[in-house]
Amino acid sequence: MSKFEELRRELVSRLREEGVIRSKLVEEAMLAVPRELFVPPELRSYAYEDHPLPIGFGQTISAPHMVALMTEELNVEPGHRVLEVGTGSGYQAAILAYIVSKDPRGRVYTIERIPQLAHQALRNILSTKNPRITNFVTIFVGDGSKGLERYAPFDRIIVTAAAPRIPQALVEQLAPGGRMVIPVGSRWEQVLCIVDKDREGRIKVRYSIPCIFVPLVGENGWRENELGIT
Ligand code: SAM
Repeated sequence: MSKFEELRRELVSRLREEGVIRSKLVEEAMLAVPRELFVPPELRSYAYEDHPLPIGFGQTISAPHMVALMTEELNVEPGHRVLEVGTGSGYQAAILAYIVSKDPRGRVYTIERIPQLAHQALRNILSTKNPRITNFVTIFVGDGSKGLERYAPFDRIIVTAAAPRIPQALVEQLAPGGRMVIPVGSRWEQVLCIVDKDREGRIKVRYSIPCIFVPLVGENGWRENELGIT
């Protein structure tokens, strides 16, 4: 067993003991996806510490416990069509792909606003050489705060950047019976919101844990001028 594999197993068993990982599907995915392939080469030795890490352009790969928790809250199943907003390194997309690919109808659509990160995410995903990941993810460049109308509706939507409010466009692109997980709040702290749409299209919001994400920048997120980005 490689050093990284050993560290991955230790981290996953710790997250299971802490009750963050609760399901077999999430456990299998966290064991199968090598996080060291999704962090910059000079930071690989930190890949199995439970922290976010910088990936360039002021963005981060989320901490493993946050990826595990959001994936559990999303309650994603084999065969689901999933939209991720905020591709970043591609790690969360790879975890989701591993789960949905248990049924060949599954698919992960992931959208990133920074083209260079989207390209790096594609390289990271391909470097896994695992067809359960590489064959099930499609990466787009654009403003994901508007969703991905062309491929809607989605069984699940996961937003991995902080929104000032729940974007209506994303609620509309959620299938009946669907669920969205999204951090909502101020620039500096948010609450993870679980948004359920029932079969009749009624929306219910539940609040999970406090969290801190980089901002969702776009038409239905934070405006660039509000953030001082020119
Ligand atoms: N899920 C990522 C991973 O596994 O590495 C981590 C995401 S990082 C915390 C948030 C990402 O959201 C950044 O890469 C950022 O550029 C992206 N982002 C912010 N606003 C966006 C938008 N409107 N549309 C798409 N991506 C956006």
